[in-house]
Amino acid sequence: MKTHARAVVIGGGVVGVSTLYHLAKLGFTDSVLLERKELTSGSTWHAAGLLPLFNLSYSVGQLHKYSVGFYPTLEAETELNVGFRNVSNIRLARTKDRMDEYRYYAGVARTIGVDVNFLTPEEVKAIWPLCEIDGVIGAIQHPADGYIQPADLTQALARGARNRGATIYRQTTVTAITQLPSGEWKVTTDQGEITCEHVVSCTGNFARRTGAMVGLDVPVIPVEHQYIVTEAHPEIQARKAAGLPEMGVLRESDSSWYMREEAGGLLLGPYEVGAPACYVDGPDPQSEYELFQEDLDRLGPYIETAIARVPAFGEVGVKKVYNGAIAYTPDGSPIVGPAPGLKNFWLNEGHSFGVTAAGGAGWQLAHWIVDGEPTLDMMGVDPRRFGPYAGRGYLKEKNEEAYAKVFTVHYPDEERTAARPLRRFPCHDRMAALGAVFGSVYGWERPAWFAPKGYALSEADLGKPDVLLNENHPEGAPGEPVREKWSFRRSNYFPIVGAECRHVHEKVGLLEMSAFAKFEVTGPGAEGWLDSLFTNKVPTAVGKVSLTYLLTEKGGVRAEFTVYREAPQRFYLVSAGALERHDHDYLIKALPTDGSVRIDKITTAHGVFVLAGPKSRELLSRVTDADLSNAAFPWLTGQTIDIGAAQVKALRVNFVGELGWEIHHPIEMQNYIFDKLFAAGADLDLKPFGIKAMDSLRLEKSYKLIPRELSIEYAALESGLSRFLSMKKPCGFRGKEGLLAWREQGFANQAVTLEVKGVTDADARGSEPIWLGDELVGRATSGGYGFRVEKSLALAMVRPDLAALGTELEITILGERYKCVVIADSPFDPENNALRGV
Ligand SMILES: Cc1cc2nc3c(=O)[nH]c(=O)nc-3n(C[C@H](O)[C@H](O)[C@H](O)COP(=O)(O)OP(=O)(O)OC[C@H]3O[C@@H](n4cnc5c(N)ncnc54)[C@H](O)[C@@H]3O)c2cc1C
Repeated sequence: MKTHARAVVIGGGVVGVSTLYHLAKLGFTDSVLLERKELTSGSTWHAAGLLPLFNLSYSVGQLHKYSVGFYPTLEAETELNVGFRNVSNIRLARTKDRMDEYRYYAGVARTIGVDVNFLTPEEVKAIWPLCEIDGVIGAIQHPADGYIQPADLTQALARGARNRGATIYRQTTVTAITQLPSGEWKVTTDQGEITCEHVVSCTGNFARRTGAMVGLDVPVIPVEHQYIVTEAHPEIQARKAAGLPEMGVLRESDSSWYMREEAGGLLLGPYEVGAPACYVDGPDPQSEYELFQEDLDRLGPYIETAIARVPAFGEVGVKKVYNGAIAYTPDGSPIVGPAPGLKNFWLNEGHSFGVTAAGGAGWQLAHWIVDGEPTLDMMGVDPRRFGPYAGRGYLKEKNEEAYAKVFTVHYPDEERTAARPLRRFPCHDRMAALGAVFGSVYGWERPAWFAPKGYALSEADLGKPDVLLNENHPEGAPGEPVREKWSFRRSNYFPIVGAECRHVHEKVGLLEMSAFAKFEVTGPGAEGWLDSLFTNKVPTAVGKVSLTYLLTEKGGVRAEFTVYREAPQRFYLVSAGALERHDHDYLIKALPTDGSVRIDKITTAHGVFVLAGPKSRELLSRVTDADLSNAAFPWLTGQTIDIGAAQVKALRVNFVGELGWEIHHPIEMQNYIFDKLFAAGADLDLKPFGIKAMDSLRLEKSYKLIPRELSIEYAALESGLSRFLSMKKPCGFRGKEGLLAWREQGFANQAVTLEVKGVTDADARGSEPIWLGDELVGRATSGGYGFRVEKSLALAMVRPDLAALGTELEITILGERYKCVVIADSPFDPENNALRGV
């Protein structure tokens, strides 16, 4: 066995072999793959081989698209047939909400270049004559979709990798992985040791075991998944004999199953409620080609709906039931990217549609390893999107839920209930008493909006016949009224959020943002290091606050931080709550090795209240003796002040565009401060507001978010960040040269704010296509209604020649085209007078 390699890939399923193939293709030809048994002997051999292009995630959608385009090319390259059957894929809809999901998805698909057709029930019947169409109101079809033979695909990838110089060792089990003082990795196997620069973990159901070798708690636990293959059916055989085309893959989303032809019979795969997590502590060390005992009782209700839809399915006997482990993560998307805290250790794990995703995931991960960055925005699959809260117990509950909800309607405001409420801030119950309807981010409970006292959905709303499975009527706590109806359109909370926005604008509101990620950077080297890393100049004076960015080497945007200089050698950094682990990982991996800088993650030590609105100064001055005047406490500065007996950091910044302060306080004093503010604010009409109102308020200021308007796919200058890029700093900043080179090549996009005309019940949400005539010229990145300016708004990336103010374009929202016009950024208060308090 080799003793050295550039990269070692662990795991010979379709994902590992694709990773090896793409590493070799990008020049890492001396890479090695280690497989404990035989290639495909994990989950890959028994996969049904479907290649669904459908995915609402921008990242995952592009991985799938790459795979479906790439796999058919393998035969010409390797002379191995991968069994690709381009039979197309039909997804049925029985409700209006499902059709809205498809319309929304069609926009995402259009922006990433995936073809989708809409079909009438009659057209479905013409393609799938064995399918009854009662109750079907429409369908979508992916003409490029189909299925493949997973084992043949893996063998072709393996041959392609070997042809490019890579080596595969089978019957070789990795038993230990250690990092050497040189930074290289030593991979120990039962056949010897290999030293390498990079390790890539692609170990499927063993992901947590492999992670444990290097101290990682990988958020992957599989769930049991079954599919049934029937005996041959005479009608299908007759179709074959007549030379008719295969009927393609059929998905009855509203009954949660897929079906396709298989060897003259049918194959049915339900995603059922109640499928248990499996291999919770990993498979048996000897496990290979393993299946579990089938559980037909669990499948019973799904078999019934399948027979009703395709009676032929019930007319033939069951030939075989496959019950295998399918890897899951809490949100159902895979884990592709760098391992947190470990240099040159990479994860390509947690694949539930691994046959579909393997091509794209191997391709992007290889770019990440070889070039330092992927070429696509991979935030949707980044391993660091989960924090340490995602432990074993959480994963069991969440992954079972993710599996059971594969086919539910994925509303943009969908909130799932498993493993909640897990992380609560001290004021949670006080917020609940004020009517908070909570959402969840990074495991935290966070008020999304506030239902007025006694507010509940009416019986008429709840009883609508169109609502299937009660999925868009999430229950609150037992006995609580149902207060929220999820929708792709303006939902029941729309006017209530509007009232919250207007209240902040006219009076004063309090937003709980304790989930913000917070880091303290200290030491004699802190200033110089931050200055050389971040785009904007680090505040030179104590008490100053600045907004700054961390770029990729190419000049795209990786992270955003608010930096408050608290003391000469102490900086307080704040970033998005959901990106805590992501941002922390970039900071610690960039730390100087001379010990001159220290970073402490202090997220949970501090709560944050955003106090905003014209009366915020008057209110705050009632509980503090600090001078809050513009002269003593200007915009973009911070001070340590007292609120009664509690000492807090008050920063005069906010994301809503009104006069206000962020009050960063010791978490254990949160309720004390909460009570003080609400007591002092009663006659000023202080009211809480939620994250939905914040999102509307920030849109009206054209404030940008990662990973929407800001992403590694867009140069910081395309995203309109020029005023935060200090090009003249002598120390430069990470990504400056790349950004200049990018500018030299020319930009393909420009961030703009759009006013959308004529919408009445649905605003843009992000990912809608933007047109000039019939030419696709951009995509929305965010959207919503601005209640202060009374306009439907979208933030978008468009072709730079179309970014001039007044340019008229069109946007597709849920299948309808609307006129939209490029307007000046910050439609609300472009001069920032409210923020400045003038
Ligand atoms: C019933 C069923 C149907 C499915 N149908 C589809 C489908 O239609 N379409 C689709 O896209 N997906 C489908 N899937 C999912 C798909 O099977 C998986 O997502 C995919 O196979 C995952 O591939 P992988 O390479 O990540 O994992 P695996 O195939 O499990 O490979 C991991 C490999 O790592 C090896 N390994 C682990 N630890 C070590 C170690 N220490 N040293 C060396 N080697 C190690 C294992 O032996 C194993 O071979 C289905 C799954 C099930 C259960």
